[in-house]
Amino acid sequence: MGPQGAGKGTQAARLADTFEIVAISTGDIFRANIKGETELGKLAQEYTNKGELVPDSVTNDMVRDRLSQDDVKSGFILDGYPRNAAQVTELDAILRDLGWELDGVIELTADRGELLARLAKRAELEGREDDTEDAIARRLDIYGEQTAPLTAAYGERNLLVQVDGIGEVEEVTERIVKSLAAQLG
Ligand code: ADP
Repeated sequence: MGPQGAGKGTQAARLADTFEIVAISTGDIFRANIKGETELGKLAQEYTNKGELVPDSVTNDMVRDRLSQDDVKSGFILDGYPRNAAQVTELDAILRDLGWELDGVIELTADRGELLARLAKRAELEGREDDTEDAIARRLDIYGEQTAPLTAAYGERNLLVQVDGIGEVEEVTERIVKSLAAQLG
């Protein structure tokens, strides 16, 4: 977990390499569907362009379907899910149905100034359609209102690993791996 621009996607890919597991990004799945002009993509685009969350009914089914595939059997890292309380409940149900448990929940932190600077750079480099000023502001607001509070619940379950997301990419990965090792014991 972490706000937009904290480096979730970058770190998820690196952790997937390190631990030889798959990284599953709901944002990436939506973007692939938007690009492929699928029905799911057309629906998702109405929300992603504005920085709003795609409805839970759609997102939850998509995650359940993805987690039911064979390549996640040796482990996975979720990036961008869960993002609200209903998704936490659904993820618990999905994992229960599949007979798995979460090992840890990583929260990447960064201050708003750093986030906005990184996102402005990403908008310039990648030209993502949802990296407009309005959509970014909306995503950061939703993160603060709906997603950030979820970390407390994971903290109570002793799953939360908080990591400072400021610094070189390699440095942050090292911090995560070390903190995770301490968490997993
Ligand atoms: P960012 O972290 O920069 O917001 P993402 O790639 O994680 O980018 O997500 C892009 C968009 O995809 C979000 O703004 C939202 O519309 C949609 N999305 C991604 N994950 C979820 C989710 N768990 N629930 C609902 N919508 C989601």
